[in-house]
Amino acid sequence: MLKKIMRNIDTKDISIEITDKHIDLVKEEIKKINIKRMKAMGIITLVIELFIVLFFDIHKIKANEFRQVDKIYTILHLSIFTWAAITVYFVSRFSRNSNNKIYDYLPIFSNFVVMIFISIIAVLDQMTIGNITAYISMLLTCGALILIAFPYNILVYTVPHIFFLVLLQRYSATSSLFVANAINSSIFTRMLYKNQVSQIGKNILLEDINKKILQLSNYDSLTGLANRRYFEELVRKDIESNCVLENESIVAIMDVDLFKDINDKHGHYVGDLVLKNVAKVINKTIGNINLIARWGGEEFIFFFQGIPMEDVDIKLNKLRRNIEKSVVRIDNKELRITASFGYAKVMGTTRDEFDEAFKFADKALYRAKRIGRNCVVMN
Ligand code: GH3
Ligand code: MG
Ligand code: MG
Repeated sequence: MLKKIMRNIDTKDISIEITDKHIDLVKEEIKKINIKRMKAMGIITLVIELFIVLFFDIHKIKANEFRQVDKIYTILHLSIFTWAAITVYFVSRFSRNSNNKIYDYLPIFSNFVVMIFISIIAVLDQMTIGNITAYISMLLTCGALILIAFPYNILVYTVPHIFFLVLLQRYSATSSLFVANAINSSIFTRMLYKNQVSQIGKNILLEDINKKILQLSNYDSLTGLANRRYFEELVRKDIESNCVLENESIVAIMDVDLFKDINDKHGHYVGDLVLKNVAKVINKTIGNINLIARWGGEEFIFFFQGIPMEDVDIKLNKLRRNIEKSVVRIDNKELRITASFGYAKVMGTTRDEFDEAFKFADKALYRAKRIGRNCVVMN
């Protein structure tokens, strides 16, 4: 049912494939929505039932107007009160215990019990005041608020519905009034379920698309590292929040040595594999505590924050050695590369000072190339 609703969502414009992961997310969302709404409904029911018992039922007892039917009403109100209290107790524990299977079935069971209570009350209403407003309004409320899938909705809505009709037939003289206006509760609640679930499904798909768009716009698709645009955005944020540049911070640039030769000798495909491997070595050696990005081509940039210069030098030299040691194997051939580094300290807390440091790091890199490559130079 859920799969069918999801597959019916029009995804032409948003070009996304619906997967089992999306369906699981929708199930989770339905569970959360049901729990939230049950909690709200439970609390409202507690207040209403308490009010009815205190101000109507007890009032009638005191006034000696307590008939047999009133006794049944009072018992029913107290039962609903107790049931609402039990439901509120369980749903309040949901956040601590959300994986418990009980929460998959609680909305179904709880709604079933409520509908049975409501059926009895509605029959009493029909006998005493001659209408069935309570039944219809509860059916509408429960059906709209608590999302129950087929075939459970038959159990929750149709079984109490039949029970209601039987009771009505047995105890009320004007049952034809209801039968004539009867709503097929399963079809009705199924429609409500379908509409809401379709909307939830769309939201989940849109969230997923949003994540994909962010991923595409912030990360480099070849290496998986942040791209230049995202790196600059993060640096700008750090500068604006002013929390990082107060600490010692260092900009470093790395450039793969003689990379053009690799492309020329082995082709761009191999060149790409080498770049991917370089990114892997960077991630392994530097980790993701600091800002790292692919600046463009075979150049990478690092922004070290709150790390002393000597430690940065040690880290960069370690990375240089790891790149030198790493091997890319292609058709029984072993490809090895080296990289050169330039770095400089950011002498202040503004964007201009960051840009200045970048220029110095670039100059240092240029020197590293001139003095023979495969080295780390500070400016
Ligand atoms: P140097 O040691 O002086 O840095 O020499 P180099 O050959 O690395 O320098 P150069 O800047 O001349 O060459 C960089 C090459 O990187 C040129 C370009 O074709 C290649 N390149 C840039 N981006 C990519 C990419 O995404 N994939 C591949 N395979 N090659 C790329
Ligand atoms: Mg270059
Ligand atoms: Mg190069």
